[in-house]
Amino acid sequence: MPVPVFAERSVLVIYTGGTLGMVDSPRGLIPGGDIETRLRHAMADLPPARRASLPAFEVLETDRPIDSSSATPRDWQRLAALVAHHHRQHAGIVILHGTDTLAWTASSLAFQLLGLDRPVILTGAMRPLEAEGSDAAANVEDALRFAVTPRLQEVAICFAGRLLRGCRSRKWQTQAADAFTSPNQALLGERVDNEVVLYPGRGLADHQRGAPRFELPDYSAMPPGSVVRLALWPGIQAWQLETWLRDDRVNGAVLEVWGGGNLPDDPALVGALARASGEGKLLAALSQCPFGPAAFGNYAAGQGLTDAGVLSADDMTPEATFTKLVHLLALSISESERRGRFLTPLVGER
Ligand code: ASP
Repeated sequence: MPVPVFAERSVLVIYTGGTLGMVDSPRGLIPGGDIETRLRHAMADLPPARRASLPAFEVLETDRPIDSSSATPRDWQRLAALVAHHHRQHAGIVILHGTDTLAWTASSLAFQLLGLDRPVILTGAMRPLEAEGSDAAANVEDALRFAVTPRLQEVAICFAGRLLRGCRSRKWQTQAADAFTSPNQALLGERVDNEVVLYPGRGLADHQRGAPRFELPDYSAMPPGSVVRLALWPGIQAWQLETWLRDDRVNGAVLEVWGGGNLPDDPALVGALARASGEGKLLAALSQCPFGPAAFGNYAAGQGLTDAGVLSADDMTPEATFTKLVHLLALSISESERRGRFLTPLVGER
């Protein structure tokens, strides 16, 4: 069997914060430090055979580990830059991240690191590393093993023994250990009897075109709040939509509409959307249903979206739709190029 070129290289573990590394404080859990010692200590407790086969790893701690509920697009950008800078020296990268916005970061990284030729695995935990019955060590162990799988060439989430495509994932549980799901995409891999396996034919590897050609955009060039997320509710008024869409600082919006892609029969609503589109704002709509695609036009009630120039996000997650808009708006490309790329699957997100 051919030996993968980077089989001997270690994994880089980047710690960004999250429950996995948290410690108690009088106000509740807060990010803790000294993660390398704590991780090595946890891995030393593995049964000998599993410890012996664990990939070698190095640890890099970000300057200020955070609770991921405070993450912003700037954090996504810094993380992508860190991965882009280090990835060639490592077989793969494992990112330890809070679970609350982990799917957002994974989606953003997938777009920023388009063309990736090795694994970037995000993981975290529902309980801190040192807590009784913690899921942290098992998640890290699985993530390390997937991170040396050359066939895996994309951003993925490893959680509770399952490997999910990063830009297809959502946090789905507030307490259970299997906190993540990918509603419209089958698992990429799984832990089976203490071995990690990739399911054939599901990865991006066959679609990637060779060496990385990352197009890392400058998210700092966009004012904070450039993209908004709006879910419809029965009785929504056009003026409510306009309050956000008319603001000059808003350049894009994710609209969460009904069922297969419908909105209320209200010309004022369609008018508000059409005005924003006409001003060059990038608007994309997806369904409020977690499963299945949004395809406008099956019902007359969906026609207004097409008339208003709203793009269909198909079966993308809200996280992928939002981060894709942020990404495309930060690239210096024309509006029509942006619209075209939005409708094209870039990293298996739709
Ligand atoms: N609030 C935490 C965070 O996202 C939750 C977690 O990590 O599970 O950082």
